[in-house]
Amino acid sequence: MLRLDDLNVHYGDFHALRGISLSIDEGETVAVIGANGAGKSTLLRTIAGLNAATSGEISYRGQPVDRLPAHRRVALGISLTPEGRRLFPSLTVEENLLTGAARSRPGPWSLRAVYDLFPLVEERRNRIAARLSGGEQQAVAIGRSLMSNPALLLLDEVSLGLAPVVVDQVYAALPKVVASGTTVLLVEQDVHRATAVAGRLHCLLAGRTALQGAVDSVRYEQIVAAYFGQA
Ligand code: ATP
Repeated sequence: MLRLDDLNVHYGDFHALRGISLSIDEGETVAVIGANGAGKSTLLRTIAGLNAATSGEISYRGQPVDRLPAHRRVALGISLTPEGRRLFPSLTVEENLLTGAARSRPGPWSLRAVYDLFPLVEERRNRIAARLSGGEQQAVAIGRSLMSNPALLLLDEVSLGLAPVVVDQVYAALPKVVASGTTVLLVEQDVHRATAVAGRLHCLLAGRTALQGAVDSVRYEQIVAAYFGQA
């Protein structure tokens, strides 16, 4: 479904992603793990079209998308839930959700389906987004992405700044998203959570691939070594 070939990304002189190759099949859940600054957000943002690659290729369902602007990638079914959630603070929950439908494709997701996935979001539907808790905001951010009916959902650090019990609630929704036919590429710093939800891992270390493979084919010690660069 998605293939990255020798992807390089720079911020000025800084080489943030170094020759990343990765492919994801339809229906898979893949986790990108790695320490702070490893390049995880940069990877998702580049796939979504918010950062430009310096070289390499990104193909989606057999079609090169490198040169497409972000909104065209959304229309093709690629949707990013950014780190830090980035809701419109002065809009209501429902208005935030509806902004996600602007480039919507046909599919299972609608306001009703998002409310069924996150009942608490429905309870808060008329509340201003700035007044939500972090966990509620995260649920709205995921719901907003789903409103575009993505085929490929890119989730950037859904746990960031949330209490573990709240993270559990957000992650509990993931199997339902996957069951709806959505392929998921998620960034997660917590190795335990990543291995619990993903079928495959891709570990970044200082912009390079340090380890990749099926969750059940890599040993925990290997993951830790790749994560901290002791391989
Ligand atoms: P985190 O978990 O802290 O978000 P990450 O693995 O997602 O880390 P990125 O945010 O992708 O890492 O950042 C990778 C590297 O690129 C870091 O060294 C970061 O400082 C640098 N970087 C990120 N964004 C920019 C930018 N806009 N300009 C310059 N450097 C940047």
